This record gives sequence, structure tokens and C-alpha cells, in this order.
Amino acid sequence: MKKITVLGVTGSIGMQTVDVVKNHPDKFKIVAMSAGYNIEKVEEILKIIDVKYICVVNEEDADYLQAKYPNKYIYHGTDGLVKIAVLNEVDIVLNAIVGFAGLVPTIEAIKAKKDIALANKETLVVAGHIITKLVKEYDVALLPVDSEHSAIFQSLNGENKKQIKKIILTASGGSFRNKTREELIGVSVEEALNHPNWSMGAKITIDSATLFNKGLEVIEAKWLFDVSYDQIEVLIHPESIIHSMVEFVDTSIIGQLGNPDMRLPIQYALTYPQRDILFGGESLDLAKVATLTFKKPDFKRFKALALAYQAGRDGGSKPCVLNGANEQANELFRRGKIEFLQIEELVEKALNSHRFIKDPTLQQLIEIDAWARNFVLKEIGEN
Ligand code: NAD
Ligand code: MG
Repeated sequence: MKKITVLGVTGSIGMQTVDVVKNHPDKFKIVAMSAGYNIEKVEEILKIIDVKYICVVNEEDADYLQAKYPNKYIYHGTDGLVKIAVLNEVDIVLNAIVGFAGLVPTIEAIKAKKDIALANKETLVVAGHIITKLVKEYDVALLPVDSEHSAIFQSLNGENKKQIKKIILTASGGSFRNKTREELIGVSVEEALNHPNWSMGAKITIDSATLFNKGLEVIEAKWLFDVSYDQIEVLIHPESIIHSMVEFVDTSIIGQLGNPDMRLPIQYALTYPQRDILFGGESLDLAKVATLTFKKPDFKRFKALALAYQAGRDGGSKPCVLNGANEQANELFRRGKIEFLQIEELVEKALNSHRFIKDPTLQQLIEIDAWARNFVLKEIGEN
């Protein structure tokens, strides 16, 4: 029996993790979970599965839950996240928190020798240099949940990583993949939230539309698979059937295909190196799909991608600035405070105004993240 802590259980990935676990009661048990502010959903989950440790953001919410569930252990805040990430009885921490908030609990979980199933890509983007070192030092597994990275991970089974020629990271292109740059002026939040292939949380759906998501994934791939940025190629593939590929030195390409269903990479991270039946999973009908199409991304049209490659190549504190500024700008767009194209503009300005640090510590990353968010708010007169 694998015992799991799920961070961010009330989100899109979190709920799909509950679904996977519920379908394999003989193999997995969620012993601890964290949520943000959605206490109703926490109580819904408790009707499906019995979870002993719970962490929420607010103290009042924690008090409410503790009074109602006196036999459970209820925590709150970052300290609480760390408590449930390092529990003795837990084998693996599935991190499905969105954003920078996922970083500290991941670090502490690794130090407590927990394997990590990582959906929270922002953690690797800002602190890949710290995380990869810790993973080696504490000898834990770092298993990707992001569908592209799971595809690459699966394509590398049994292969010699030194023989990778390049990684081909596929991208659906997001909600605006058919729009020209001019047509992106004035697009609405509702339009941006309408992703053609995947149903996901709000932040990542907007990131898919700007292509910051793919940019973050380029940096994520660099750290997960220890390749150079020249070895990572992004390919627009609107059907989202090939979830990514690896080309080897002999020109052979291996990829992973399937219907767009996040439960598969979630389950694979939990069953690895084994596989298991995906309940409710449908076989891919290639005859029905009939056509798979590909095209090169336009780095002028998708400026976010160019910014992410540059930040990744510069390294050091730059990816942290890119991520923090993007998280803030993404949120401002969702609140109707800025235009869609201002997201990349603000991120670029933050990158250009930042004082570079070569090898930032965790404490410095926390400060840089706060600086980047504050910079964006100041730029639009919100702070
Ligand atoms: P979501 O918004 O649906 O859920 C986020 C979860 O994190 C919620 O449980 C929320 O309560 C919690 N949370 C948010 N802010 C928090 C904070 N400050 N402190 C503690 N908890 C907090 O997001 P999602 O779409 O499930 O994405 C989660 C992560 O997985 C992101 O990093 C995303 O990039 C990645 N991811 C998601 C998908 C997908 O299909 N949704 C696919 C690949 C990768
Ligand atoms: Mg992805």
C-alpha cells in the first residue's frame, strides 16, 4: 500500500488524483491532503475518502474543521503544509498546488526522504538547481505529472539518457492558437479560459493561451531530464494526441500517445515503474483521429516562449522573476485589471529591471518572487 500526501487536493489535478486513488483502494491511500480556501470541497472529499491529516490556508477554516472532525489532525498555513509533507507514514507526496507556494513543502518533503510526484511545475522553474541537488542528495524519486514530461519520462524507459539528441515538447497552442498577434488585442478572460483540449485550473489555462505554460515546461524539462536548452524543441500539435517525444542520436523518435486525460500521467507517477488499469480511460482510436498535424511555433507571435527560453538560458534568478511576474500578471488579467498582451509585456519589463543573482538560495528566491510580483503591481499602479 502506497501512502500519499496530496497537496492542492481541491484543484483540477488534486481531484483527478482522488479519482485515481479511489479506483485502486488496494494500492493507494491518501493519508493527508491540503486545500486552499474551498472548505466545502474538502468536506465533499471526506465523503469519498477518509483522510487523517488536513491542511488549509486559514486558521479560522482549520478551527472550523477541527471542531467538526475532532478525530482528525487539522493544520494551516505553510507550516501545516510542511507538517503533512513530512509525515512518517507517508511514502510519496503528490504536489498539485499551483504556483510558488508549492516550493517550500516540496523541499521539506525531499529532505524527509519522500518520493515526489510533481504537477507543480513552478517549483522546478524557480528552484530547479536546488531541487535536483536535493533529489540526488536524499536519493528520492522525482516523478513528473505534467503530461508532456510524463510522456518524455515514459519514452526514456530503458534508454541511455546520454543518447538523447533532443526532446520534442508538444503544445496544443492554447485557446488562441489560430489568432494573429493583432487579433490578440482585447481578447476577453472568458475566451482565454476556453481551452480547446484540456479542462484545467484557471492559472494554467491562461498560461496555455499566452504560451507561458509551454515556456515554464521548457525549463521544467531542462531540470527533469538534464539536457541543454538547445536540445529542447517546442512543436505545436493542436490535436494533443502525442504528448511529447524524444529523438535519440540514431534519429529514432520515441513518443507517448493517448487521449488527453490527466489521470493517466497522475496514475503513472503513482504506479511507476508498473502500470495499471486506468478506470474510465478510453483507448485512443487513431482511425477516428485520422490526422495529426504539427507546426513550428512563431516566437514573435508567442513572445512568452522566447522570454522563457532566454530566462532559462540566463539561469540563476531569471526563471524566478519570469515565474513570479507571470503569476502576478496572470492573476491581474483574470481579475480584469490588465489586457491579455500586457501579461508578457509586464514579465519582460520585470526581467529587464531585475538585478541578476547567479546561484540564488531559497531565501533569496522567496525575496525575488516577492519583488517580481510587487514590480508588476507597481507598474500598473496597484501598489
Ligand atoms: P487548480 O487551481 O485547479 O488547483 C490548485 C490547488 O492548489 C487547489 O487545491 C488550491 O486550493 C491550492 N492552492 C492554490 N494556492 C495555494 C496556496 N497559496 N497555498 C496552498 N494551496 C494553494 O490548479 P491545477 O490546474 O490543478 O494545477 C495545479 C498544478 O499542476 C499547477 O502547477 C499546474 O501548472 C500543474 N498542472 C496542471 C494540469 C491540469 O490539467 N490542471 C496539467 C499539468 C500541470
Ligand atoms: Mg503540460
